[in-house]
Amino acid sequence: MKSFIDVKPDSHFPIQNLPYGVFKLKIGSEPAIGVALGDYIVDLTVLEKKGFFEKTNLGNERVFNRSSLNNFMSKGRQTWRQVRTVLQTALSDENPLLRYDEDLKKIALVPMEDANMCLPVEIGDYSDFYSSKEHATNVGSMFRGKENALMPNWLHLPVAYHGRASSIVISGTEIKRPSGQVKLGNSDSPVFGPTKLLDFELEMGFLIGPGNSIGKPIPVDKAYDHIFGIVLVNDWSARDIQTWEYQPLGPFLAKNFATSISPWVVTMEALEPFRVTGPEQEPEPLQYLKSKGDQAYDIKLEVSLTTQNQKKPFVISKSNFKYLYWNICQQLAHHTINGCNLRTGDLLASGTISGPAKDSYGSMLELTWRGENPIKLPSGEERKFLHDGDTLTISGYCRGDGYRVGFGEVSGKILPAN
Ligand code: CA
Repeated sequence: MKSFIDVKPDSHFPIQNLPYGVFKLKIGSEPAIGVALGDYIVDLTVLEKKGFFEKTNLGNERVFNRSSLNNFMSKGRQTWRQVRTVLQTALSDENPLLRYDEDLKKIALVPMEDANMCLPVEIGDYSDFYSSKEHATNVGSMFRGKENALMPNWLHLPVAYHGRASSIVISGTEIKRPSGQVKLGNSDSPVFGPTKLLDFELEMGFLIGPGNSIGKPIPVDKAYDHIFGIVLVNDWSARDIQTWEYQPLGPFLAKNFATSISPWVVTMEALEPFRVTGPEQEPEPLQYLKSKGDQAYDIKLEVSLTTQNQKKPFVISKSNFKYLYWNICQQLAHHTINGCNLRTGDLLASGTISGPAKDSYGSMLELTWRGENPIKLPSGEERKFLHDGDTLTISGYCRGDGYRVGFGEVSGKILPAN
């Protein structure tokens, strides 16, 4: 399959991808929904007006002239697939309808450089899992020793906490260094001040399409029907605040000052060719968590750092989404097993995705082993944790045969505390 638009082989956005996002023109416009194609945004409000989606379940309903994807996400997989088929047909090099309609192309194809991306989804609730065994083992052994690295529950259920949706921000938003209570090792009482141990967490998150009613769990074999797509997530973390506050109820102010997500939502349909077998689960999970088939995805992830002296992004970690021990269907089933209701637009993040190798760890905490082994940058600088002025970028893609299905990136620059 090929588009009539020239898309470079290493582009994240070929016709096989078509991720959804919300954009505004830089010259000023109402927010609109589009899909990414090469260096363009296909403005779906234009195609919708022209009746391209009339034969889908959408009929004449207008769902794309909105400031979020929520309405479209609530429609369910059959409609998502119909719209994808319409788009792939309209944008293919074999279809003369759009290809040779210069007037329509002029208004439907927006150069990405002419637009700003907005938060694609109105996120009502956000939960963050802790599903990488390597990450949980690394952090656990740092704080409790190697023998007690994994808590006794970890291999039996996907551990998570409820995060905060209000501070989820779009890639490119600058992150102000948070302040809080910190208790230094040898002192009896805490002090207040800017965090000295500001960290990132390499994560991905999936977004809920149709939700469930309260009291009605979603079985693991139906979980997929409720998942619209996936974004990159950076769960910014203040490790010194976290160490002091986290017992006994878990993360709070160390995490909820900001969480960044990438602007393009890659659909499960686009990720279908990249399913792989996940890690073996031993002991066998309880019946309600037993998922069938290949539920992991081969998504290559990369973290890079730019500083005031290190202008060229320097890669500090390479990981993969497939390392996750608990898969997204298990996470969703577990989240609802007690009757908890998920709603359209909810974000369920994976937890830090660390791989087995030292250069595949998903946080500074692990990469520098609590600051013991600083990262050395080509500029001559060293980093134990993030400094003011640093920019941290996460990118990810799946490698197809001659094309990539990519997520673009999620990036954030650290600003000084007040
Ligand atoms: Ca996290």
